[in-house]
Amino acid sequence: LKTIIRSNPGLLLLKDATIIGKWSHNQLPDPDELTASPDKLPIGQQPDDGVTGKLIKVLLTFLLPLTLLTIADRLWAWSKWVRNKEKKESDKIFQIFKNKKKMRKKIVAGNWKMNLNLQDGVALAKEINEALAADKPNCEVIICTPFIHLASVAQVLDQNVVALGAENCADKVKGAYTGEVSAEMVKSTGAQYVILGHSERRQYYGETAEILKEKVDLALANGLKILFCCGETLEERQAEKQNEVVKAELEGSVFHLDAEAWKNIVIAYEPIWAIGTGMTATSDQAEEMLAYIRSIVAEKYGQEAAENTSILYGGSCKASNAPELFSKPNIDGGLIGGASLKCADFKGIIDAWKK
Ligand code: PGA
Repeated sequence: LKTIIRSNPGLLLLKDATIIGKWSHNQLPDPDELTASPDKLPIGQQPDDGVTGKLIKVLLTFLLPLTLLTIADRLWAWSKWVRNKEKKESDKIFQIFKNKKKMRKKIVAGNWKMNLNLQDGVALAKEINEALAADKPNCEVIICTPFIHLASVAQVLDQNVVALGAENCADKVKGAYTGEVSAEMVKSTGAQYVILGHSERRQYYGETAEILKEKVDLALANGLKILFCCGETLEERQAEKQNEVVKAELEGSVFHLDAEAWKNIVIAYEPIWAIGTGMTATSDQAEEMLAYIRSIVAEKYGQEAAENTSILYGGSCKASNAPELFSKPNIDGGLIGGASLKCADFKGIIDAWKK
């Protein structure tokens, strides 16, 4: 009895050989409840524990919580899957955006103009090459030199590190044009690029849109890539004609190209009032113009081609203002005059892409 009741002493109530109640000595039924014989009182009734009742009890006690738990678990797993999927989608979009940004090259190009004799030029090229071989740049670096430097500079450059370009080429294929240098000659020195349309050539050497168009076609026909310059004068900016002027320059000399040829064009926006004057366009002015140029390239060649076109800013760009300029979304680098004539100055600008 002690084993059955699990108490000592205790009380056991039996009816028809079935235990219908048991109490430990601490919880004996209240004597007040025992007002009649047990079969008339609730404690004396057979418990309702038929098979159905038991099944319901089992269901409620075990299966229901288990089902609820399973549903909660599945819901959680599903929401995790949805979250992962959304993340993957947004990663993909981010990746596409990043790739798009990455697709167009960041460029820092030096334009030596008519500076440095051959020996000094070769020495500077060597110094730049060594500095960049030791500390790899985060952008493409080009140095554009006078014609007579090209062949010698090509010998000292590792063109995987620093590419070489000319500052000009002729608008004629070949022949009796004393003093001129053809695109084919430029290419034969090992140069890959040529600057065309620089405002100094337009201003001092009368290069018109038509002449530049010839040069562009010849440069491309000889496998050169082009750094094509455009930009307005101070008067034109004051008259708020800068967009018009730049558009006309592009339309006059490069917008005749087909989409395939366009891939070899890098645009350099150089407001004439900022070249060599120490007056830089503010980063907002530069960004505004470069965004405009990208929009007209998009109109002409489509959005994707515009996204892939590198557009540079030029005009008193130096190590101190390059990080601010290069932080703008449409500015893909710089065409550098004065500050490309000293290795440390030039490298300072190149390093702006690391900031
Ligand atoms: P700057 O020249 O950097 O000396 O102003 C730029 C250029 O003319 O390409």
